[in-house]
Amino acid sequence: MARVPPPSERLGDDAVLLDTGHAGASGVIGVYLVPHAGAAGRAGRFDLVESGPQVDIATVEAGVRALGLDPAGVERVLVTHVHLDHAGAAGAWASRHGARVVVLAAGAEHLLDPSRLLASARRVYGDALEQIWGGMTPLPADALEAVEDQQELRVGGRRVRVLATPGHARHHAAFVWPDGVVYTGDAAGVRFPGWPVVRPAVPPPELDLAAWDASFARLRGLEPSELRLTHFGAFDDVAHHLAAAQERTHAWADALLAWADEGCSRSEAQQRIDDLARSELEAVGADEATVRRYLATSDAIMTVAGLERYWRKHHPERWPGWSDARG
Ligand SMILES: [Zn+2]
Repeated sequence: MARVPPPSERLGDDAVLLDTGHAGASGVIGVYLVPHAGAAGRAGRFDLVESGPQVDIATVEAGVRALGLDPAGVERVLVTHVHLDHAGAAGAWASRHGARVVVLAAGAEHLLDPSRLLASARRVYGDALEQIWGGMTPLPADALEAVEDQQELRVGGRRVRVLATPGHARHHAAFVWPDGVVYTGDAAGVRFPGWPVVRPAVPPPELDLAAWDASFARLRGLEPSELRLTHFGAFDDVAHHLAAAQERTHAWADALLAWADEGCSRSEAQQRIDDLARSELEAVGADEATVRRYLATSDAIMTVAGLERYWRKHHPERWPGWSDARG
């Protein structure tokens, strides 16, 4: 049955934000479609930034068709990192539609052979993995375009720069367009249009706050005109956004440590993370639907697990353990 895609949003430079409609919700996971530009661009050709999860590929294909384009017009898929919500469908775009997939070299092996990545996701999601994310088709080796920090790519007639932005994940990259638009993946956190609150995106297993601070400095140094987040949309109040993302990421990490010091249990910490997120949103007048959307994206379980793992790995001398499972 043909899917009706959620509405897409056309952005200032003809790029389009497609909604993967993940888990029946709109506005949570995005894929950006960038039509090829000017004389160098051929009609009907385009690139994608992010693939979305594999379970949502039919919705994204329907979104492409709704723009009057054929999914086979895809040239490249640029993925910011290899988490399932960003790169899950990358291999499927290559095998179904002939896309080449651009990824930072450090993450490439997980696209070629997703078995380890899927095994670690299965430890979190169990048998619900396929239903939630839809697995991951291995990327054919000849479709892989592994890139390095600062490499320049010709993308549809534009010069696009790869910027390594570790922190959320070790192999995370942002993609810098010549007009100052930066596709940030999860390197600038999570935020929904119309709200000033940035939610830290801090899942396990590679969270590294020192590396992330350096990435925030790199992003700031670009003086971007606009940040395009995978979760979810375009934001032009760049200075506010980056400051809030960095400040809240540290504040949540510090809060978790303080709760553990107070003798909190892990489940209490999960509840407190949700309470903290809710209070930040209610302080700016957010409605209940907005609060729920924030809480559902990188949820409390993943957030607490990511921050706990960060403290254990990088500062074990400071981590007291949970009251219900000391050590
Ligand atoms: Zn993500």
